[in-house]
Amino acid sequence: MERAMYFLDQKDMPTHWYNVLPDLPEPLPPLRHPGTKEPLPREGPLPPPIFTDAVNKQEFSTERYIEIPEEVQEAYRTYRPTVLHRAYRLEKALDTPAKIFYKYEGTSQAGSHKPNTALAQAYYAKKEGVKRLITETGAGQWGSALAMACAFFSLECKVFMVRVSYHQKPGRRILMETWGSKIVPSPSSDTEVGRRLLAENPEHPGSLGIAISEAIQAAFGDDEAKYSIGSVVNHVLLHQTIIGEETRKQMEMADAYPDIIVGCVGGGSNFAGQFLPWIRDKLSGKKPDLRIICVEPKACPTLTKGPYTWDFGDEAGLAPIVLMYTLGHTFVPPGVHAGGLRYHGMSPIICHLYKLGLIEAQAVHQVATFEAGVKFARTEGIITAPEPCHDLRVAIDEALKCKESGEAKTILIAHSGHGHFDLAAYDEYLSGKLVDYEYPEEKVKEALAHLPQVPEG
Ligand SMILES: *Cc1c(COP(=O)(O)O)cnc(C)c1O
Repeated sequence: MERAMYFLDQKDMPTHWYNVLPDLPEPLPPLRHPGTKEPLPREGPLPPPIFTDAVNKQEFSTERYIEIPEEVQEAYRTYRPTVLHRAYRLEKALDTPAKIFYKYEGTSQAGSHKPNTALAQAYYAKKEGVKRLITETGAGQWGSALAMACAFFSLECKVFMVRVSYHQKPGRRILMETWGSKIVPSPSSDTEVGRRLLAENPEHPGSLGIAISEAIQAAFGDDEAKYSIGSVVNHVLLHQTIIGEETRKQMEMADAYPDIIVGCVGGGSNFAGQFLPWIRDKLSGKKPDLRIICVEPKACPTLTKGPYTWDFGDEAGLAPIVLMYTLGHTFVPPGVHAGGLRYHGMSPIICHLYKLGLIEAQAVHQVATFEAGVKFARTEGIITAPEPCHDLRVAIDEALKCKESGEAKTILIAHSGHGHFDLAAYDEYLSGKLVDYEYPEEKVKEALAHLPQVPEG
């Protein structure tokens, strides 16, 4: 019998997250203060003081394995471990000798990997006596994960949702409201940043960078609240390593080991959550030729086109300044359907590993990603979110290369979620209306003119 699904028993679910920081060949560059622009202490905390103490400690931790609190494990067990699939039907359709596996995070209640960190952050907030969490969301995937997590841990939740998505994607808003959260379109009149932008343009469509600024500002002015972020920072990547830790056990069950791991990167959390537990083997020399491929949209090509430089994480310059690949914190990317990949910057850990040459990056066009998504739907059945359709494109291309060369490589796809709220995008593709966006070179140039000037040292 050919086994197509690898289940891990709940009693075998990993009990620790993996922290890559102590294993990095060179330490991460320090963050810089958004106001003074001076380097911040390597042991933290993150400015401004809006995060819980627990995640502040994790952000800078040198502990290699961090225990997952029992209450978080219990919450994970409502949807974890997730299944590792062998994509036999896709392999057959491609007529490739490659073995294709995918670890599927779309079976969480929110439909993506994001509850893995949302539940941890909500748990710590509750434990520290916080009354509400404030956050931002683009297309609504992160907001819905945090809304559910706050419901689990009896916290209030306020979400600044990018205005254009608020109007175009009511489905996600309704999910969040059903879980009990309060949603406001951003820019909003609730914050100074929002009021400034609305005064300039009452129809402002918003951006993720702006929504982050509003959430930070709102949390800063509210003693009972903490801020929560869904990607980019170290502690979020840490919480996501439950994905890769599970996958390692499941690949062992399958008697397989990946030659190539591929995943999409917006802020980098789902893919890092999969590949960090494997990069250990590359760093230790156990699997030196392991290829790790980050995939991003051609319309927002942070790693493949952005310079490696100091920039703010948010539009208004309230978040720390980090050394990263960036298109500029004021850059508003074209409206590709992969809303989760429309962020100007990238996780410092991913940028660091990319700079060190340990991981690769590729940018792909939108139409080609949906072509891959439809192929996957017609073979494996799953309707994939627009973000991981980017992984599917590159995985299929690599499998087709194997067909030419006759090599039976093992490809592992980090499949981050389903696309049940993105059917309009599939509709556009199927009716031939979906378009590609060229790299917006002029807009990036303009945004890069607004990078912060950082003193030497
Ligand atoms: C948010 C999201 C992403 C992008 O965020 P990362 O932090 O890069 O993982 C990718 N896929 C899905 C399904 C998402 O919801």
